[in-house]
Amino acid sequence: MAGTGVFAEIIDGEVYKYYADGEWKKSASGKSVSIINPTTRTPQYKVQACTQEEVNKVMDAAKAAQKLWARTPLWKRAEFLHKAAAILKEHKNPIAECLVKEIAKPAKDAVTEVVRSGDLVSYTAEDGVRILGEGKLLVSDSFPGNERSKYCLSSKVPLGVVLAIPPFNYPVNLAVSKIAPALIAGNALVLKPPTQGAVAALHMIHCFHLAGFPKGLISCVTGKGSEIGDFLTMHPGVNCISFTGGDTGIAISKKAGMIPLQMELGGKDACIVLEDADLDLVAANIVKGGYSYSGQRCTAVKVVLIMESVADAVVEKVKAKMAKLSIGPPEENCDITPVVSESSANFIEGLVMDAKQKGATFCQEYRREGNLIWPLLLDHVRPDMRIAWEEPFGPVLPVIRIGSVEEGVHHCNASNFGLQGCVFTRDINKAMMISDAMETGTVQINSAPARGPDHFPFQGLKDSGIGSQGITNSINMMTKIKSTVINLPSPSYTVG
Ligand code: NAP
Repeated sequence: MAGTGVFAEIIDGEVYKYYADGEWKKSASGKSVSIINPTTRTPQYKVQACTQEEVNKVMDAAKAAQKLWARTPLWKRAEFLHKAAAILKEHKNPIAECLVKEIAKPAKDAVTEVVRSGDLVSYTAEDGVRILGEGKLLVSDSFPGNERSKYCLSSKVPLGVVLAIPPFNYPVNLAVSKIAPALIAGNALVLKPPTQGAVAALHMIHCFHLAGFPKGLISCVTGKGSEIGDFLTMHPGVNCISFTGGDTGIAISKKAGMIPLQMELGGKDACIVLEDADLDLVAANIVKGGYSYSGQRCTAVKVVLIMESVADAVVEKVKAKMAKLSIGPPEENCDITPVVSESSANFIEGLVMDAKQKGATFCQEYRREGNLIWPLLLDHVRPDMRIAWEEPFGPVLPVIRIGSVEEGVHHCNASNFGLQGCVFTRDINKAMMISDAMETGTVQINSAPARGPDHFPFQGLKDSGIGSQGITNSINMMTKIKSTVINLPSPSYTVG
């Protein structure tokens, strides 16, 4: 159970502690932040509201610990990560329990998130040993005008202190996807978990604590992003920010100093359906892609662009599959569970009502109880409706009927987002041409968009982010190149 057994030391009374200098601590603020259970809409957990002074101490400790960690042999750093991964997987149930209560993730998916996170940590340790174990040797005489008198040895070195800020929807997986590459590369890591999901993240951090990482190397400060976010992201002790979330990331990138940024932001992933597509496959992917975790995924299908001639058939097939979705609490493993907050539910409802007013066809009756919104397919959506462009992050999906493939690609590219997209056709040549034309970080052919497997590159264009994730890319991003040049005493010096 959460907060008991090995996790008992991370809670004081009813407030979870924050993690600094290798210890679980109460904030001197004496204040806490409440986490509301999206299903019951009552307070579930409390976390510390950390102060700026506490953030300063965490940064100082991180800086000192990082110097020693960077000198710890790579194979030993990997060993620590493998140990943390095993502990994380061993404690998947209490961590999953937090995900169910904090973010209403269906129980089975919550366990999957923790197991996947353990696998990600192990894979990163293995990948890191290989990537960081190699450097480059360059010789000078390949550049015009140079003799073979200089030898340049370059290798990857850590950046220093990495600040990780994940979003609510995968508070464990998207935290470890930043933590593991930062640590294997020899960095220190400061985590600011999302408020909804903070307790799952604190349990995950305790698994790293149990693995025995050096004091101060990893810390986790809690509090509302709107209150401590700016202080953290503009802190002079931070050498790199890895952020996943919404438009907040755009604001952060304008405020952060001259440090590397990895920003994974929102999406409006388009699903383009051609006339020759396998319509059963299309319908299955629209339902899975659009409604899994109630549409609260960055890579959810967020707009269907479908050729008019097959639209009726696909809409009917999708409706039939949607009728089978179970709706209810996450504890019962329902397909559709409450969205994360009342304000999210209100936002989604606003998009739905705007579409209704402007004449969209509702394929089901709109229904909401508290934060639980029944899955809804909106047909005959037009570009003047907000839902054609905005990210609902809920179980509502617009269908726009198109007269040509060009129209579909045009809609996709007119979006300010460019995360992923997908195209359904049996013609691989057409699929490749459409993929080339879509201005998104990834295009999936004959499958819904997805983040993962976690070692695949993952990146957004335009307002969907900067930099690329995926295990290898993240390790590289959290390092810089260091060169040493050996200069021979004289260019004419020869032996033999
Ligand atoms: P969000 O509101 O942007 O929050 C993300 C994180 O930023 C949270 O930890 C939040 O903390 C923190 N934060 C808030 N204000 C901050 C500030 N001023 N400075 C620093 N940090 C601050 O996003 P969300 O609602 O959690 O997640 C949903 C969004 O994430 C969607 O747009 C989705 O598409 C996107 N997303 C993108 C990806 C991707 O890889 N591209 C993956 C998953 C989700 P608090 O919780 O305390 O406010």
